[in-house]
Amino acid sequence: MHVAIVGSGPSGLYTADAITRLWPDTEIDIFDRLPTPYGLVRGGIAPDHQSTKAVARAFERMLSRPGTRFFGNVEIGRDLRYDELKAAYDLVIFSVGAENDRSLGIPGENLPGVYGAAAFVGWYNGHPRHHALEPLLDGTALAVIGNGNVALDVVRVLAKTQAELADSDICEHAARRIDAAHLTDLYLIGRRGPIEASFTPVELAELGELERCDVIVDPAAIAADVGPEVPEKERKSRQRNLEILRSFGARSGEPKPMRIHVLFNAAPVAILGEERVRGLQLERTRVIEGRAEPTGERFELPVESVVAAIGYHTPALPGVPFDEKRGRFANDDGFIEPGVYAAGWCKHGPRGVVGTNRTDAGILVKRIAEDIASQALPEGKPGTGAVTALLRERGIRFIDYAAWKRIDEAEIARATPPKPREKFVTIASLLSAASVI
Ligand code: NAP
Repeated sequence: MHVAIVGSGPSGLYTADAITRLWPDTEIDIFDRLPTPYGLVRGGIAPDHQSTKAVARAFERMLSRPGTRFFGNVEIGRDLRYDELKAAYDLVIFSVGAENDRSLGIPGENLPGVYGAAAFVGWYNGHPRHHALEPLLDGTALAVIGNGNVALDVVRVLAKTQAELADSDICEHAARRIDAAHLTDLYLIGRRGPIEASFTPVELAELGELERCDVIVDPAAIAADVGPEVPEKERKSRQRNLEILRSFGARSGEPKPMRIHVLFNAAPVAILGEERVRGLQLERTRVIEGRAEPTGERFELPVESVVAAIGYHTPALPGVPFDEKRGRFANDDGFIEPGVYAAGWCKHGPRGVVGTNRTDAGILVKRIAEDIASQALPEGKPGTGAVTALLRERGIRFIDYAAWKRIDEAEIARATPPKPREKFVTIASLLSAASVI
């Protein structure tokens, strides 16, 4: 069987792994628009979370397995068309994630100084699309909207000292800009309450360990108990979040030069300013039946930058059925159309951690196997040869696994320890490190 997987992040690679476990002789071609593999493991996971990024070693084994080929720097919809993929492969699996920021839908969100988390995280992680963002960090106060783990990543990275970031792989351009910033007050803003926050406890607790930053929480805002509405499987972690938040509120000691203010029940209404952000208007909410209901009471924060960490959506791809309302490929449990499937965030939206993709991949491949059993695949798809010929004809300089390893080694070699790597952040410098230009 010839399989194309579009997207070499966790969902794509775990799906490739699940396929080869079930059908060891499958030929799998893994495409990525970037010259580099691993998706959010490289460009999304926080640079100071190196132990989470260590999963890349397992992905390396999947990507270098005989029968699997990497085609980096190949964009479906630009270098190869969807119908060409379908003509070449027995199975096409999209695992392209959800790269675009959801919008806040409030006045002022296009002002200079407002950034979506995909762009902001991509900036400090050296994503070629976002490396040149140069966010305005020249004020003293910045607001991060959202109560998920991405919001925690952003405040933590901004609050860390250069010493705390020394063994991270934060890109040099971002480390320098954060070091030069004069931020003293970071606001972490949830439109619902502490019970509803989707932080995971380990990540939330990290805020309490920052060298130069206190966490300010109003203890009166933290309920004693999560209450009966929280689903059983989430109770333990939500309860733990409340304990951690209370512990922040109870701290004393010498004040540190920076503060993270954790604000709950505050929904964004408008971003204020004319030429750039000068403030954020919020409205107090009450949580009623799980929803944030506005109370009419408004207040303003004098922030000079805003990062919206409120979720992502998948961009549409020419020809691939798309669900506009949900911002992902139209699919039924991963099935898009005969022979075409979706995996990961482009299938079910942006939720779950890296490991979630492993379980999901097993379920998806089981479904694919059932579909194949009930309806045999058409014979005679040509696979790699046809696609390689098209790419060569079009002059596309694709990156294979060996070329990626040249980039990998060059990035490691140019970093100053304890920094694990200094990424190349433009397509041109990546191609040059891969020796394909
Ligand atoms: P998330 O957990 O879904 O959080 C999104 C947050 O944005 C929620 O608090 C949501 O509030 C809020 N929000 C949405 N629309 C809003 C609006 N219009 N105004 C104000 N707030 C709004 O998603 P995420 O933080 O982007 O993370 C995505 C996934 O990656 C999650 O599964 C996360 O756990 C995972 N992740 C994991 C790690 C880690 O393990 N270290 C790190 C980063 C990301 P409501 O709840 O009220 O909708």
